[in-house]
Amino acid sequence: MSLLVVGSVAFDAIETPFGKTDKIVGGAASYISIASAYLAGKSNLVAVVGNDFLPTDIATMQKHGVNTEGLQIKQDEKSFFWSGKYRNDMNSRDTLITELNVLGTFDPIIPESYQDCEYLMLGNLAPAVQLTVINRLRKRPKLIVMDTMNFWMDVAWDDLMKTLAAVDVLSINDEEARQLTKEYSLKRAAQKIHAMGPKYVIIKKGEHGALLFGEGKIFSAPALPLEEVFDPTGAGDTFAGGFIGYMASKNSTSFEDMKTAIIYGSTLASFCVEQFGWERLLDLKKDEIQARIQQFNDLTSFSA
Ligand code: AMP
Repeated sequence: MSLLVVGSVAFDAIETPFGKTDKIVGGAASYISIASAYLAGKSNLVAVVGNDFLPTDIATMQKHGVNTEGLQIKQDEKSFFWSGKYRNDMNSRDTLITELNVLGTFDPIIPESYQDCEYLMLGNLAPAVQLTVINRLRKRPKLIVMDTMNFWMDVAWDDLMKTLAAVDVLSINDEEARQLTKEYSLKRAAQKIHAMGPKYVIIKKGEHGALLFGEGKIFSAPALPLEEVFDPTGAGDTFAGGFIGYMASKNSTSFEDMKTAIIYGSTLASFCVEQFGWERLLDLKKDEIQARIQQFNDLTSFSA
């Protein structure tokens, strides 16, 4: 099933208690497009970069199943740049720099060959741009999943509300869910988010797993306890990529399949955090992924 991914493609500078990087490839759509392609076989990317972005990095995406026909390269402009620093618990981080650069004027053009897309992942991006993508698709996809972050709640609240009203699933972290709804209880927060539009709400809790709310039901998935967490950047996006990639591979929109999709998302995210940036995602093997799915099974099954 054809899958469309929109979001930032960026340079990131990251600082964790284990080390620091200078400008590496990042961006929500970089992680989502590669993670989803592992499960769906292929993803179609719509994004924008400046001419500082290396052709070899675009080739890396292509090699991992990403169709970059919809990736715009703006001459004489700079790619989106984000810098963040993790606190010692690795679960919380502070944004140090957000330079929108090419993202500030991004006009998402959908190639004709993407028009038949049935699964749409709106990665972190200005909500107005996310909505433009929905409006430019001639046929509404079967499933539209959206991610966002506190930055857009601060600078684009009204646009965010309009976009939320148009999607099926919101994937968001716990801190952002609380900021969005002003509710401490995640159950209440999910109810408020349903009222904003999305029928399904996924609340990511970092190393504590994720919750899925919808159809009056709740599903809870743990995160795999890992010995090494090196860099959590992109874990949320990789999770979202695994989620939509699995749903597209099953050609499904059911709550039952969403539960398994959450496990696939968590599995791919567990690899992402083991190295800086997208490095670990670039050499994943199918049997490694399946072995971790089995670990999730063992971790959560019990008889009562
Ligand atoms: P995550 O760790 O999954 O929450 O996502 C981290 C990625 O989000 C980084 O690679 C950043 O480049 C990207 N990012 C950070 N801030 C923004 C923003 N305001 N809009 C779009 N992408 C962003």
